[in-house]
Formats: sequence, C-alpha cells, structure tokens
Amino acid sequence: MAWDFETDPEYQKKLDWADEFVREEVEPLDLAFPHLQFVPLEGKRREAIDPLKEEVRRQGLWATHLGPDLGGQGYGQLKLALLNEILGRSSWAPIVFGCQAPDTGNAEIIAHYGTPEQKERYLRPLLEGECFSSYSMTEPHAGADPTLFTTRAERDGDEWVINGWKFFSSNARTAEFLIVMVVTNPDVNPYKGMSMFLVPTNTPGVEIVRNVGLYGEALNEGSHALIHYEDVRVPAGALLGGEGQAFVIAQTRLGGGRIHHAMRTIGMAQKAIDMMCERVLSRETAGSLLADKQFVQGYIADSYAQLIQFRLFVLYTAWEIDKYSDYKRVRKDIATAKVVMPTVLHDIAWRAMQVHGALGTTNEMPFFGMIHGAGVMGLADGPTEVHKITVARQVLRDYKPSDDIWPTQWIPKKLEAAKAKFAEYLELEVGNQ
Ligand SMILES: Cc1cc2nc3c(=O)[nH]c(=O)nc-3n(C[C@H](O)[C@H](O)[C@H](O)COP(=O)(O)OP(=O)(O)OC[C@H]3O[C@@H](n4cnc5c(N)ncnc54)[C@H](O)[C@@H]3O)c2cc1C
Repeated sequence: MAWDFETDPEYQKKLDWADEFVREEVEPLDLAFPHLQFVPLEGKRREAIDPLKEEVRRQGLWATHLGPDLGGQGYGQLKLALLNEILGRSSWAPIVFGCQAPDTGNAEIIAHYGTPEQKERYLRPLLEGECFSSYSMTEPHAGADPTLFTTRAERDGDEWVINGWKFFSSNARTAEFLIVMVVTNPDVNPYKGMSMFLVPTNTPGVEIVRNVGLYGEALNEGSHALIHYEDVRVPAGALLGGEGQAFVIAQTRLGGGRIHHAMRTIGMAQKAIDMMCERVLSRETAGSLLADKQFVQGYIADSYAQLIQFRLFVLYTAWEIDKYSDYKRVRKDIATAKVVMPTVLHDIAWRAMQVHGALGTTNEMPFFGMIHGAGVMGLADGPTEVHKITVARQVLRDYKPSDDIWPTQWIPKKLEAAKAKFAEYLELEVGNQ
C-alpha cells in the first residue's frame, strides 16, 4: 500500500525551520522593503538580505526547484510544494530562497534547452540570485491565443533582427535579459513557426515604452513592461533551443510555473484563514464571540474545506510530476489546479476580509491585496477559461461516443441486458414464488 500523507522526519525538520524563519525573518521584509523584490540588491538592502540568503543556503534550501547539477538540491516538486506553501506567506520569501517566478521557469528552460555558453552566461547568475530575467511573450493585441503573435525575427547573415511589440513582460525594467517569443517562419503553422531568443535587456533597439502598474500602483511605476523591439540585432547563438521550438519550450516553462503559483497560493490562503480564525476568536458582538455565530462558522468550515481539497490536489499533482517527469502527461491536473486556484484564494480572502469588518477593507490589512492577487492568478500564465478548455479536452480523451442512439447507461437497455445475464436465476425466483 503505497499511498502516504506523511513528510519524512528529516525534511519535516527543514520545513519547521523554514516556517519559523519565514515568519520571523522574512515576512518583516514585506513591510520594510515593499515592492523591491525584483530590484537588484545594493547598499543597506544587500546588508539586510544577503545574510538571510546565506542562512537558506546553509540549510540546503536554496533553489530547490533545480537538480544538483544546476546548483539546486533536486528535491523534486512534492518537496518543493511543501516548502512553497510556507514561502507563499511572504512576497520576499521566494527571493530569499532563490525560487521566485518568473525566474524559476526561465531558469528551467535555459537548463533544459540552453547551450553550454547560454547556461554560463544566463543560468549561472540567475541561480546565484544575482540577476533577474523577464519572459516576453504576450503582445498588446494577443495573449491567450499565442498563434496570433506577430513580433518577428528575420535572419540576416549570422544575426537575427527582431521587430515588434510585447506587453506585460514582468520585471523587464530590472531584468538582465529577456526571453522573447517571436515568429521566425510565418509560412508554416504557428505552432512550428515561432522561436525563443535570449536578449540582453540593454541590446540597442529594446525600448521599455511603459512600466504598467497593477491596480493600486502609481501610473508608469509598475513592473509589467510594454516593450518595443525595433531592429534588435542578436547573434545566431541567441536562439534558445531549435528554430520553431517556442511552443514546446513554453509548455516546459509554464507547466512548472503554474504549479509553483498554486503551491504558494496555498500559503497565502492559509494565512487568510489564520487571520480569520484569530479575529473571530477575539471579537464579540451581539452577546457572543464572532466564532459562535453560525454564519461565521460557515465561513470557517467552507474555507477549510476549499483549502484542504486544493492543497491535497496540488500535492498530488506535484507527486505526479515527480513520478512521471513529464509535464505533458500531468497537463490535465496542472491546468485543473490553475483553474481552481483563483477561486480558492478569492473566496477565502473575501471571507477573512468580511469578518474583519471595516478594518478588513483598509490598506492596514492585506485582504484586498490577496483578492487582487486572485484576479491576477486567473490571468497570468493564461486565463482560466483557456485552462478549462484544456481540462475538458483532456478529460474527454478518455471517453468515446455511444454506438447507439441511446446512452450506454440507458436503463431499459441495461435492464434487458441484466435480465439476459441472470435469466437462469430470475426464472428460478419466479418459480419459487
Ligand atoms: C500579473 C501578470 C503578470 C504577467 N506576466 C507576464 C509575463 O511575464 N510575460 C508575458 O508574456 N505575459 C505576462 N502576463 C500576461 C498573461 O499571460 C496574459 O494576460 C494572458 O495570457 C491573457 O492574455 P490577455 O491579457 O491578452 O487577454 P486576452 O487574450 O485578450 O483574453 C481576455 C479574456 O478573454 C477571455 N478568453 C480568452 N480566450 C478565451 C477562450 N479561448 N475561450 C473563452 N474565453 C476566452 C478570458 O476571459 C480572458 O481573460 C501577465 C499577466 C498578469 C496579469
């Protein structure tokens, strides 16, 4: 009997250490240095944060998403999930543990598809936590449907020349390099006509036109770039993987990225439940604690039920990835986790906000940030609707149409078959009467 819901004691010790470390040492960074996670370290910030990263390395928890050959611990997705749900409590924690999106996914594809030179130039500094990267795929006119992308790279001797626009390239403003998805052959099916390039952000012709902010951020002070690529020349060696391989590479990147978001979402939703429970045990109204009101008990039960289902499913999906080492094979469950994630976070954060009354709606509590985060989860790495289509298609693969005008479970037909199967006994029963 191989099903097992226990963490091995050695790793549990590491998780316990991480839990306390994140609460005591890392969560305060979210308030001391807000919105600076993706700004290269310098001065006092470096003095504060470098020792924390060092401590994580000493504990063997640095960059655990990657195998030992790439500087990580090779713990696999299940162990990463257990760690990530702790890191999800804090926006600085993934940086301090060397496993922040989008750099994890970017590192993963360079590790998979990069040449030795590309790994040396881009992957090593990424893994050392000394630089950031940006994934530049979405375009202003098209996101959910990548077959509509038009940004183009044309071969010119030993170089490629890139022209076009990209939108929502997260962290491009502080990234050392961009991974850009472009059309290299417009004459074939788009799934075979696009390629990925590694482009240093300071390459002439790369212009960040605007840094789009999320809701609540000041205009043009956000971190999601609108980029104009104008006659951007890169050498042939900037091609990542083979020509026409962009879709295959994107799936490698997004498969891991999506499940990592789900893991961290567990931590965020658990934090909301923690706050909700503390509040309802602390606040009295109309003669009793909020915790004694049935509506509020319903909030707690619903939140626990939603989170425990989601958590077990994410852990199961992580286990499947480890077992099969094949994102494609686990695609249905990764997409399902992606579909469920925004609703779980939204519902739990909303209830937690509600029980905090007016205070819950303010910028002195984190609930609106979480609810906004739920909205983002429904779009980043592809909209929920598109992932539902994936889930449905994958589910339907295991079925075939009825070979009759009646469904196979149509009772009159099944009854007839059952009677025929047990005719001998049915006759006997009739005979006994
Ligand atoms: C915080 C954040 C960070 C991001 N970071 C990056 C990044 O680093 N790099 C990058 O390249 N992109 C990034 N994105 C962009 C993201 O990948 C796109 O927003 C997403 O793919 C959707 O594209 P779109 O915004 O153009 O929406 P559209 O493609 O215009 O879709 C709009 C809406 O239409 C509906 N819809 C779309 N397709 C279907 C369908 N087939 N069936 C039914 N309904 C449909 C959905 O409701 C969808 O939300 C980020 C987005 C966010 C919010």
